[in-house]
Amino acid sequence: MFENKERTSLEELGEFGLIKHLTDNFKLAHESSVKGIGDDAAVLDFKDKQALISTDLLLEGVHFDLSYVPLIHLGYKAVQVNLSDIYAMNGVATQITVSLGVSSKFPLEAVEEIYKGIELACNKFNIDLIGGDTSTSRQGLVISVTSIGYAAKEDITYRNGAQEGDLLCVSGDLGGAYVGLQILEREKQIFLENPQIQPDLEGKDYIIERQLKPEGRRDVVDLLAQLKIKPTAMIDVSDGLASEILHITNQSDKGCTIYEDKLPIDPVTYETARELGLDPTVCALNGGEDYELLFTIKQTDYEKLKNDVDISIIGHITDKNSGVKMISKSDVVHELKAQGWNAFKN
Ligand code: ADP
Ligand code: MG
Repeated sequence: MFENKERTSLEELGEFGLIKHLTDNFKLAHESSVKGIGDDAAVLDFKDKQALISTDLLLEGVHFDLSYVPLIHLGYKAVQVNLSDIYAMNGVATQITVSLGVSSKFPLEAVEEIYKGIELACNKFNIDLIGGDTSTSRQGLVISVTSIGYAAKEDITYRNGAQEGDLLCVSGDLGGAYVGLQILEREKQIFLENPQIQPDLEGKDYIIERQLKPEGRRDVVDLLAQLKIKPTAMIDVSDGLASEILHITNQSDKGCTIYEDKLPIDPVTYETARELGLDPTVCALNGGEDYELLFTIKQTDYEKLKNDVDISIIGHITDKNSGVKMISKSDVVHELKAQGWNAFKN
């Protein structure tokens, strides 16, 4: 990826030189950031709020493939997917730490690209970079992001608060990131077999972006606050809708019924899934990496949300014995499973 560009070796800079070089542009904006980079630990002060902390570990070859993920997107996505966990608690994200394991064969210019993505995400979502760790890696690139935020105790939304009769809502649309990934994988295979062929991504921008450039739904947290809706339970959609629904129902000790015809699926996702011989509903249920927010609200809050085009009401919470089900478009009842929901069974 960097063959034709300038290459500065990381060894030339040394660890401290590298950290300084990468983090020099980052300024602290939050009052809660008492001390950022430069001491043995950062110091934060959230006063009367509760602190929220979440970590993700991303490994090359397991969570990302550098043959089609540009490094700038990798940095951006690593931050976004992590902020998404703070938003899923109904919190405000304020700081991150970033830890890197990077091969000394990586040029500085490559690590700079990752940090450009991190910086973009920090600027866009008003996040302070307050620390991290840097090490050489012999086994591919490793990135770990920890995000930190806060919320008033009474605003924090757990997975276990869903009540019978609550409405199940999801933001945005589902399945796009997964179908986007299938397109990227397909083009990679074609490229490996014949490097002369240019990738054919025409008309697929939306789903490629869903895969490479997801956005944490801070706007949904803001919207709920504006509408004075406190969700009874909330989770972000990282592993797939079905799996996240099961987290909510298991932890809340409830059942749930959703309706296939209510699932929000973008037309590009739908058409592309069909082209690839995939069932769009299965992609929406099991695809994952959508980073939308899935939440339950009391029925009395329905009026406040019903006209919002970005929020879909896809079902409702039932008693535990009713199970976790989807009613298909042809009125067939399917049991939802975390993985391997089978469109052809039943
Ligand atoms: P220590 O020896 O105490 O682990 P380091 O030399 O690793 O300290 O880090 C020095 C400072 O730089 C610390 O404030 C640390 O949080 C920060 N830092 C280290 N690596 C990174 C990184 N990849 N991104 C952002 N900050 C970093
Ligand atoms: Mg260190």
